[in-house]
Amino acid sequence: MRVKLFNSLARKKQNFAVHGNKVGMYVCGITPDAKAHIGHAFVFTSFDVLVRYLRHLGHKVRYVQNLTDIDDDIIRRSKAQKKNWKTFGKEHAREFLLEMRWLNNVDPDVYPKATEHIQEMIVLIKKLLKKGVAYVKNGCVYFEVAKDRDYGKLSLLSRRMMLKIANERGNYPDDPNKKNPLDFVLWQVKMPGEPAWSSPWGDGRPGWHIECSAMAMKYLGETIDIQGGGSDLLFPHHESSIAQSETATQKQYARFWLHVGMVRCDGEKMSKSLGNVVLVEDMQKKYSANTLRIFLLSHHYRSVWEFHEKDIVKAQKINDLFQDVWKVKSKTIKALNVSLWEKKFYSAMSDDLGTKKALVVLQSLAREIVKKSQKKSITKAQVFFTTAFNILGLTIQ
Ligand SMILES: [Zn+2]
Repeated sequence: MRVKLFNSLARKKQNFAVHGNKVGMYVCGITPDAKAHIGHAFVFTSFDVLVRYLRHLGHKVRYVQNLTDIDDDIIRRSKAQKKNWKTFGKEHAREFLLEMRWLNNVDPDVYPKATEHIQEMIVLIKKLLKKGVAYVKNGCVYFEVAKDRDYGKLSLLSRRMMLKIANERGNYPDDPNKKNPLDFVLWQVKMPGEPAWSSPWGDGRPGWHIECSAMAMKYLGETIDIQGGGSDLLFPHHESSIAQSETATQKQYARFWLHVGMVRCDGEKMSKSLGNVVLVEDMQKKYSANTLRIFLLSHHYRSVWEFHEKDIVKAQKINDLFQDVWKVKSKTIKALNVSLWEKKFYSAMSDDLGTKKALVVLQSLAREIVKKSQKKSITKAQVFFTTAFNILGLTIQ
């Protein structure tokens, strides 16, 4: 079946085709500086279903998901809690991994940490300096945005908007070292009391954007098939990833850019800085992993939606209905014809990962199985249900 995915770079759905059946997928992972919330669960469960579906279709997916285990927030938050930055990051990373496993998300094939790839980042920064698109000033290295004519091709934002968003997301426009306030840092000089690594430009640490480019290219080559993340990463993180990677290699960095919508709570994007977060840990105490997955996947991955706990209660009922599929037994050999549901399920999944529709199809089939089980054989229907469950990462309880 032909899969169509919405490519943020093309701003439309495109047929997903790969050379051979190998798919290299890089998903921007977490900064382990706080507990994971429902917004994180939505991003990583969405990509988990994509991996499961592509594998079901026969693709050999290599799934890389990084850990930004060094950045301003980790340093700031660990200091505030009087903890060592490394231990602090490790604890949150471990907790996140266990929560994702509890949610039945498959582990990424590679789970690289930024702090273990400093050398690769230095090599990439050297390349950019050699090409004349980066400059060194007082122990810092910057990417010179004006030297890249393509800068902005992913987000299509005006310069004014770029600056506004970048400033909200860690950019320092007034940094006196910069030629242009939009230039982004590739290497930052060591500040007193901060962790640092040695480099040709002195002790310091990498900028956020360069981390992902270096790790993605190390594990997936210079052109990756799918690059994903939350839609809040589109600018400046992904825009800058394209700029530095494509200038360094002169090759397309990622063929498909996939962005997962933001979950809102009390009318605002759920975020640790706003404090309106619903933690995975709290939901874990009240609901099953199946219920939470059904709840998350009842929203299309690109949609922006509001968190309502009553929708989790609805998902719990859907899970109960699904579990009934295995409780009923048929007494005849005349099979229930499942082909219509199968077709609808796969066409929903292949149309930009339509999990919301796919779940509606499964509910309709589940009702039919429970209703008709006395008159028709439901064995085939149960087999299809098992396959659909595997694709969506649901389990028989
Ligand atoms: Zn990233």
